[in-house]
Amino acid sequence: MGLFKKKKDKMTFDEIIAKEDGSVLPYEKSDEEPDINIEEVLEAPAKPAKKKPLTESEKNEKFTCTGCQAEIPLIEMRRNLYVCPQCGKHHKVSARRRMRYLVDPGTFRRIKNSIPFVNPLDYPDYEEKIAGLKEKTGLEEGVLSGVAEIEGYKAVVAVMGSEFLMGSMGIAVGEMITRTFEVADKMKLPVIIFAASGGARMQEGILSLMQMAKTSAAVERFSSHGGLYISVLTHPTTGGVSASFATLADITLAEPGALIGFAGPRVIEQTIGQKLPEGFQRAEYLEKHGYVDEIVGRNDMRSELAHILRLHEKRRK
Ligand SMILES: [Zn+2]
Repeated sequence: MGLFKKKKDKMTFDEIIAKEDGSVLPYEKSDEEPDINIEEVLEAPAKPAKKKPLTESEKNEKFTCTGCQAEIPLIEMRRNLYVCPQCGKHHKVSARRRMRYLVDPGTFRRIKNSIPFVNPLDYPDYEEKIAGLKEKTGLEEGVLSGVAEIEGYKAVVAVMGSEFLMGSMGIAVGEMITRTFEVADKMKLPVIIFAASGGARMQEGILSLMQMAKTSAAVERFSSHGGLYISVLTHPTTGGVSASFATLADITLAEPGALIGFAGPRVIEQTIGQKLPEGFQRAEYLEKHGYVDEIVGRNDMRSELAHILRLHEKRRK
């Protein structure tokens, strides 16, 4: 979106928060770097994951594509990054798998999760649910973030995990996204975020909605310091995530067929009492209407991102 946005149309943060009488709410716009110690925030580089050899039954396992109903050998789906070789449908992948597809082996340094678990509404069974998901997914929370290299170009990369409560944004996710921008700001690196989310996390009520403002402010601060932010919208990017940091990037990419929007199509149709146009809220429709800059297939994502990072690096010099 940002690529084609005319500069003069862009409001400054001060204009956005200006009061009716023209005065501005007290917001200290700092030119200082974030007050964080990178070595304390980052974990040691992760060892490249060893590929487990497939068992005999896995070798024969089939994957049924929900796009064309074809029965594809699982081994072939994995080789093709879970994109159907017949119809091109991009199937969901976990955050860890996506990170592995994306970054150079052995370069990933995870940003530590600094938010202890909270249950502000005393939501029943919430703590057990989070504990179970941590174990099952290997994620600390709904987003995995760290410093890594893509074809040798360094960036701070965050990947949301739809396998963790639909990638919903609560306090911990909001803080991790914010921290992602702070680490990038401090290290003078670009930010790449793969969004995949059902929206705000209902279990945390109003506090999860506040993360929209918090993460948007983090983007603004990072941008005002000259940082490059690339957002990649994957299936599905909806709700409070689509209405905050995910659509505030300088360059907005999307995976083919991704559902991107605020409310779902059924809710909109019921509300406005009209049938929606064909393909509404799909990546292709949004690209045609200028909301998305480019649709990039999963197999080309690494080289496309490396290409943008290379152009950006040249410019900075
Ligand atoms: Zn298919």
